[in-house]
Amino acid sequence: MRTKLVAGNWKMNLISTQGAALVDGFLKRVEVRDDVDIVVCPPFLSIPRIRDVVRNSAVKLGAQNVFWKDDGAYTGQVSAKQLHEFCVDFCIVGHSETRGKFGVLEVPETTVPFFGETDETINLKIKNLLFYGITPILCVGETLAEREEGKTDEVIKTQLLGALAGIDGSELYQFVVAYEPVWAIGTGKVCDTAEAQRVCRFIRATIGEFADPEVAEDVRILYGGSVKPNNAKELFSQPDIDGGLIGGASLDGESFLQIISSA
Ligand code: PEP
Repeated sequence: MRTKLVAGNWKMNLISTQGAALVDGFLKRVEVRDDVDIVVCPPFLSIPRIRDVVRNSAVKLGAQNVFWKDDGAYTGQVSAKQLHEFCVDFCIVGHSETRGKFGVLEVPETTVPFFGETDETINLKIKNLLFYGITPILCVGETLAEREEGKTDEVIKTQLLGALAGIDGSELYQFVVAYEPVWAIGTGKVCDTAEAQRVCRFIRATIGEFADPEVAEDVRILYGGSVKPNNAKELFSQPDIDGGLIGGASLDGESFLQIISSA
C-alpha cells in the first residue's frame, strides 16, 4: 500500500520569513495523518529556516535541485552532502525548468546547455542523492510538440531509463517520480485525468521492466501541472496517481491545505 504524497515546489518565490509564516500557518491547521506525506521544497536559502519550522511536525523538507559532486570548484552549486546536513529528505531532479527549457521561448537555444540538465546529469544527481539517503523526486514529461507528434510514451521512457541507468532496482523502493507534462506546468491547462492515469501506469510498467514489478508497485508516482483544489481529488483518486507535485497552488496556504485533504 503506497502512502500518498503531496509536495509543494515553491520555485524562486517567497523570502524565508514569508515561507516560514506560510508553513507555520498551515501546520496549525493541517490534520496529522499517516496516510499522506507532505513535503515543502523551498529555495535553498530558506532551507535552514524552514527546517526549524517543520522539525517534529508532519511536514518533510525537500530541495528543488542538487549538484552531483560532494564538493569542489563548482561555483553556485549545492551538493547532496550539504542538503543532508540540513536534514533534507527529498529533492526534485529533472524539473522541466532545470532540464534546460526555462520556459523554452525565453531562453535562446545557445544558452540552454549552461542551464540544462540532461538525462546523464540527472542520473548522476540521483545516484548522489541516494548515497545520502535523500529521496529523489524525478520529474518526467513531454512538451506540447512532443505530445502532438505522438511521442509522449517514447519521451517518458527515454527520460526514465536515462535517469535510472546503472541504479540497482532495490534502491528504488522509496523512489518518487512526478509525471509533469511540460505544457501543463504553470499554464492552468491540466492534463485530462484518464490520460494522466494512463501515463502514470506506463511509468510504473516501465519501472517494472527496469527493476521488477514488485519494486514498481512501491514507487510513488505523482502528477504535476496546474493541480488546484478543484481538480486534485479526481486526479489523486486514480489507481496509479499517488499524489501531486504542486507549484503555484503550494504558495497559498488554504489551497495547499485543500489539495492535501484531497489526497
Ligand atoms: C511545478 O512546477 O512542478 C508545477 C507543477 O507547477 P504548477 O502547479 O504551477 O503547474
